[in-house]
Amino acid sequence: MKDTLIKIEEEVAACQACQLCKTRTNTVPGYGSSQADVMFIGEAPGKNEDLQGKPFIGAAGKVLDGLLASINLKREDVFIANVVKCRPPLNRDPLPEEVAACADFLQRQVTLIRPKIIILLGRHAMDRFIPGLKISLDHGKPKRKDGNVYFPIYHPAATIYNRALIEELQKDFKKIPKIIDMIEKEKDQLRG
Ligand code: SF4
Repeated sequence: MKDTLIKIEEEVAACQACQLCKTRTNTVPGYGSSQADVMFIGEAPGKNEDLQGKPFIGAAGKVLDGLLASINLKREDVFIANVVKCRPPLNRDPLPEEVAACADFLQRQVTLIRPKIIILLGRHAMDRFIPGLKISLDHGKPKRKDGNVYFPIYHPAATIYNRALIEELQKDFKKIPKIIDMIEKEKDQLRG
């Protein structure tokens, strides 16, 4: 049967593949356009996301919305997901076995959406796709791997505790349209 985002959502809703299913209120499969050029991947749902079943609600979500608006995008234009689809208790970091148990859902979403660029929000998302880097050194630098273009940036929640990071995040965001332009030009050249 053909894979779809709705099918993944239904499977996530019923998933009991790791212990996070025991403490979640709602699953948070991801939200946005199946045609998105830009896909954002964060770490894990927090308290508000768990209550509402949607990613990036609350303070971090407001920061993200402001950043999206700065490059003329809305949530409906992009797709936003997390490395794990259920909230870790007390917002602890997801455990490696939880990340592994949830990996297939995220991979299927990436395969279906085929975004031009995958924005990795923070260290955990970066480690999942391009391990071995440091967010403080490697944010704002696109990396190619396995046919995808990844772009690690600070997590919007980090700016709530460290206001100095908002400028870094704003600068990195401004690069996104330019990188997409570059990717499109490269594709045009390959097509000849
Ligand atoms: Fe399933 Fe992922 Fe939720 Fe674990 S975090 S129960 S693997 S959907």
